[in-house]
Amino acid sequence: MGTIIHRSKTRPVKVGNLTIGGSNEVIIQSMTTSKTHDVEATVKEIARLEEAGCQIVRVACPDERAANAIPEIKKRINIPLVVDIHFDYRLALKAIEGGADKIRINPGNIGKREKVEAVVKAAKEKGIPIRIGVNAGSLERHILNKYGYPTADGMVESALHHIKILEDLDFHDIIVSLKASDVNLAIEAYEKAAMAFDYPLHLGITESGTLFAGTVKSSAGLGAILSRGIGNTMRISLSADPVEEVKVARELLKAFGLISNAATLVSCPTCGRIEIDLISIANEVEEYIQKIKAPLKISVLGCAVNGPGEAREADIGIAGARGEGLLFKKGKTVRKVPEETMVEELKKEIDIMAEEYFKK
Ligand code: SF4
Repeated sequence: MGTIIHRSKTRPVKVGNLTIGGSNEVIIQSMTTSKTHDVEATVKEIARLEEAGCQIVRVACPDERAANAIPEIKKRINIPLVVDIHFDYRLALKAIEGGADKIRINPGNIGKREKVEAVVKAAKEKGIPIRIGVNAGSLERHILNKYGYPTADGMVESALHHIKILEDLDFHDIIVSLKASDVNLAIEAYEKAAMAFDYPLHLGITESGTLFAGTVKSSAGLGAILSRGIGNTMRISLSADPVEEVKVARELLKAFGLISNAATLVSCPTCGRIEIDLISIANEVEEYIQKIKAPLKISVLGCAVNGPGEAREADIGIAGARGEGLLFKKGKTVRKVPEETMVEELKKEIDIMAEEYFKK
């Protein structure tokens, strides 16, 4: 595994049993697509997300029915629950009362000071943080008038405006996101935000698109931000099953060596030398290692031309040969395995290695 790169310093903020920021790993979030008042569907969706590796889940709270469902949802899930509220302070109070581990609301949009105070007081009493969600598409009128159109400076100014409201009430358990669907704008905004304040940053490229295009776009934007050591939690936004968001987030963190509880697959692009059905093998192994919580590097190569040497850094892998495969560990061939049992043998060896890892 690569070394975990330096993260820009932020204040640690507790969300349920997790801490965002400080020296902690980047935490993966996603959001449910079910109607929040439909408790059964929401809990089921959260269970799928959790299984995929989602560490914090957010639900929309557009109305009272949704707010009323929070206690029951909270009771039946294992990961911290974030409730997303727009404007309505009564929904925020209800969500907090109902057991939300964090709320996402922009204090500047709540209205009268008494309402903001009530929300902050309730959050303080329960010891839960507030995420300020700045969105390039909905900047405050006075900021848009000043800059003419959404800019990174405008987004940071908006964040500071909301932060100040909370700080004036002596509230500091703050997490901030500055989402834009324009990748360059998002990168610039997060860079400027990381310099402007030390609250943890929730990363996201909003409305990034479908599974394929959105994955590319999110990875480009968030990859650039993560590579600068910025970001404490993230959500990939896709027009797809949110489980895919979690998978993409995990892959992205793996690419930067920023996740310690996941195995990585290296597979060759295949070429005319290929000796085995590599593409289906790679897909099967990829699916299998989703559940592996040890940071193993697994390699699957189409032929043995360059053999194990091509995957010297892998912990374990196979290289195809005619009708068989070479199983190798740490760059050394261990034994030959027939093609028919190759994947099963590899899976078994992966399990053994994962077990050994946790025994250490
Ligand atoms: Fe081609 Fe073999 Fe390299 Fe795969 S490992 S790309 S099949 S030479």
